Amino acid sequence: MQNLLDFDAAQLTAWFAARGEKPFRATQVLRWLHRFGAADFADMSDLAKTLRAKLTAEACVTPPPLISDRASGDGTRKFLFDVGGGNAVETVFIPETARGTLCVSTQAGCALECSFCSTGRQGFNRNLTTAEIIGQLWQANKALGRDPKGERVISNVVLMGMGEPLANFDNTVAALTLMLDDNAYGLSRRRVTVSTSGIIPAMDALSDACPVALAVSLHAPNDRLRDELVPINKKYPLKELMAACLRYLDKAPRDFVTFEYVLIDGINDHEHDARELLALTRRVPCKFNIIPFNPFPGSPYRRARSDRIRRFADVLMQAGVVTTTRKTRGDDIFAACGQLAGQIHDKTQRSARATRAFMLEEQRPCFNPRP
Ligand code: SF4
Repeated sequence: MQNLLDFDAAQLTAWFAARGEKPFRATQVLRWLHRFGAADFADMSDLAKTLRAKLTAEACVTPPPLISDRASGDGTRKFLFDVGGGNAVETVFIPETARGTLCVSTQAGCALECSFCSTGRQGFNRNLTTAEIIGQLWQANKALGRDPKGERVISNVVLMGMGEPLANFDNTVAALTLMLDDNAYGLSRRRVTVSTSGIIPAMDALSDACPVALAVSLHAPNDRLRDELVPINKKYPLKELMAACLRYLDKAPRDFVTFEYVLIDGINDHEHDARELLALTRRVPCKFNIIPFNPFPGSPYRRARSDRIRRFADVLMQAGVVTTTRKTRGDDIFAACGQLAGQIHDKTQRSARATRAFMLEEQRPCFNPRP
């Protein structure tokens, strides 16, 4: 059985063509699946009966099953999805005054082992399929519904949940393509953001394949500290990363990169760190998103003190750089940044060495841009 949520428009058209069906039939089905959230071919009333019967025999519409749906006191919703083999991934909806943002996962676990990250602590399980990535949006749209004006409440998507999106390149790009497709979710490229720890070849490939807004998890102003906090920095150091950001901006829908910076008490929260950060990023049009570290069980770090968070942000703002400090949302349901999957049992059984070897071996083919 072919899961049709695994296809973007071009892939669905090719699948239909292989069965002698015209491209417009694929467009009709795409609209039913993603615009209207249909899961039953019998509901697709503008398709011929024979086609509906054929689809029922050969295809299915299977998003990842929802395990739990919890609401925080501040309106944040955390969805937990079963992705098989004892693995679960999380998706978080964050309502704000003028928009509603869905934070989507792209991998079960993560191989990159950032030392401040709860997901990184779990190790790597596997890449999510396209159906599992887009299925989070499909399911969340169903659960959240529409606002009083009939608009979907999810207006923005950030690939900032569990996993490194660019280490699962092909499936991530297929899901992004569906998010932007007018026959599917119709989001503008500015409203879809990929957050990466800085895998440079894949950033370049993304700028060709599907240039959406870009966020980079920086977290340190120099290589010495970033090697510790974000180990992939040893492979793609900061000077090269800044050059890659500039290249990305040539094709990006926004004229800036968002640098994310988790503030950890006594580690990266000094005024001199803020000044070094300004020097590092001075050539890159950017804004900063300061994220107070969210402690999780077993973490060696503590959240930066609020006076130091304010001072750090002031140094950046006084230099004229737009800086936002993220409100900590969903603390009571462990849905805050860096806490995704904080309470999921690690099923990987991988040693750190095996994880690293896997990462190096598996990532290479992912960097090829799609045709
Ligand atoms: S911060 Fe992102 S890239 Fe680093 S371990 Fe966590 S999920 Fe992976």
